[in-house]
Amino acid sequence: MRYLPVGNRSIRMAAAVAALLAAESVAALAGAGEADAPTAAAVTALQCGHLIDTANGKMLGATTIVIEGRKIKEIVDGAKPPAGAHIIDLATQTCMPGLIDAHTHLTSETSRTQYVDKFHWNIADYAVRSTVYARRTLLAGFTTVRNLGDTENESVALRDAINAGVLAGPRIYTAGKAIGSTGGHGDPTNSYRSDLAGDPGTAAGIINSDEDAVKAVRLHYKLGDDLIKIMPSGGVLDESTSGDNAQMTLEEIKAVVATAHDYGFAVAAHAHGAEAIRRAVIGGVDSIEHGTYMDAEDMKLMVEHGTWYVPTIIAGDFVARQAKVPGYYPAQVAVKAAAIGPLIQATAGRAYKAHVKIAFGTDAAVYPHGQNAHEFELMVGAGMPPMFTIQAATISAAQLLRHDRDLGTVAAGKIADVVAVPGNPIDDISLMKRVSFVMKDGVVYKLNAVPVDTAQ
Ligand SMILES: [Zn+2]
Repeated sequence: MRYLPVGNRSIRMAAAVAALLAAESVAALAGAGEADAPTAAAVTALQCGHLIDTANGKMLGATTIVIEGRKIKEIVDGAKPPAGAHIIDLATQTCMPGLIDAHTHLTSETSRTQYVDKFHWNIADYAVRSTVYARRTLLAGFTTVRNLGDTENESVALRDAINAGVLAGPRIYTAGKAIGSTGGHGDPTNSYRSDLAGDPGTAAGIINSDEDAVKAVRLHYKLGDDLIKIMPSGGVLDESTSGDNAQMTLEEIKAVVATAHDYGFAVAAHAHGAEAIRRAVIGGVDSIEHGTYMDAEDMKLMVEHGTWYVPTIIAGDFVARQAKVPGYYPAQVAVKAAAIGPLIQATAGRAYKAHVKIAFGTDAAVYPHGQNAHEFELMVGAGMPPMFTIQAATISAAQLLRHDRDLGTVAAGKIADVVAVPGNPIDDISLMKRVSFVMKDGVVYKLNAVPVDTAQ
């Protein structure tokens, strides 16, 4: 099936929604579909059984969310839709802001053949598959993601296609290619035989000096990226020996951060080792990703600097389990996965107790896309209260993204990103894996647990 331009797609979507709604709503939705900007004029009322107030960490009772166009117009106590509004009945469901995953890689996905595929697949193969991963992520309730590393800046094309309404997916803020050092976790030819390894330079995100760092960041600006991802420590899924050694100097990190901040970019730092984390925090990065061997001194520094922590427990959990499957990973990767993977959950629990700021992120692609919400269960398992984990995936992640004026809360004037689950997720956090309603930018993508854009 070919995706149609945005106007027509929204008309088809409106028709699909209408088929699932009460009869009196059908005529109004059909009318909305005939307008030039199909989502702009219609008023929709979401009648929620409960609403999670993420700003105050409170579960509210029955609430009506009034949506006009792509924005939330007002919040009304009880089931009181304005006259003439299209009503969506979510009386048995708990509404909350659209979820945010602060660490994804939407243009690839784990598989038994992933280390061979990269010699067979063109970038177009990854790009085509990314459209499926994006839709799966959106239908799981994640209306916004940070994309922290791709291969050829292809996530920019995915972002732009989603923003243009060409295909269904989350709102993407992308770092493009990660920036790292020669032979490090970000080196795309790490561990290859010598005639294939070559010497990738700044265009491939590989830096070895302050000057390289400045140029690499400016290249990201030129290519239209939204933020910067750096690799100051070793990582699990490349075939080098260490998963946690320090791979960037403090001076290189400072040069990246200073240049990035000049251009309005935040900097996310992949870091497992304690020394790499320390350098990244002192160097001024905005978030530490994974943070496996984060020690008490690192946590103290992060609190002092206001550095965010994005744990990605699900990725550690997945690689630790897959490391036991013979042949799933190359031998050296399996060794690192078995050592590092199981440790992240305990680190996340300690960081929570140490009052480090935590935002929700999963490293999607390391595990299959669409399972992002399992992270909620793992965060609760680490000792975090359910409400805290939902705030981490809404208001806190929005703050990390520097988009908390638009996202992360359900309030008048915000972008109309709303999801719902069937029941009370504070009592049963596993409900987060059963998102039953998804609205992004005022457009419904899932209703009564059914994706509406494939209903025709
Ligand atoms: Zn990652």
